[in-house]
Amino acid sequence: MNAPMNRRQFFKICSAGVATSSAVGLGLSPGVAVAEVRAFKLARTTETRGTCPYCSVSCGLIMYSKQDEATKKNKIIHIEGDPDHPVNKGSLCPKGAGVLDMVHSPNRLTHPEIREAGSKEWKKISWDEALNKVARHMKNDRDANFVEKNDKGVPVNRWATTALLVSSTTSNEAGYLLVKAARGMGMVSLDTQARI
Ligand code: SF4
Repeated sequence: MNAPMNRRQFFKICSAGVATSSAVGLGLSPGVAVAEVRAFKLARTTETRGTCPYCSVSCGLIMYSKQDEATKKNKIIHIEGDPDHPVNKGSLCPKGAGVLDMVHSPNRLTHPEIREAGSKEWKKISWDEALNKVARHMKNDRDANFVEKNDKGVPVNRWATTALLVSSTTSNEAGYLLVKAARGMGMVSLDTQARI
């Protein structure tokens, strides 16, 4: 028969459990038992690589998904640091370790919205509509404000009234193309979240 547990022993066991789950979340995976639980949990999942969107460090993630029985759609069930990623080598800070909550948050915005001039309401629009609107605003602004020559008649080809902000989750290749496109239009102000 098991000996009764006193208050001190109870808290010791609880803190050990919390410490173990926290350590796994942070990518500091310890013993064999934990590895076996992990392997069981992740059996039959699909692995997809991604980048943590929270800050400019841009840590690599592995997202594990499998079909949700109720919706029959793929659902991410676990996220951890990518051990092959040169930035974080498998580890994640507490924010990154909790990124699964952000993915499934009911407050997460998953579609474009617009608040028309004079309106207090945000309205859901399609991606096509959003991209067309952005393109139209850019074209109108560039047509109105593009500067071909400065006061001395020197060609400058500047478009200084619109700026571009690139996400830190953008790959090198996508970032290169975005900068080329923006500079090609004469855009002067470019920045990236990775510098903030
Ligand atoms: S895991 Fe932490 S340090 Fe890494 S990108 Fe996310 S928020 Fe930044």
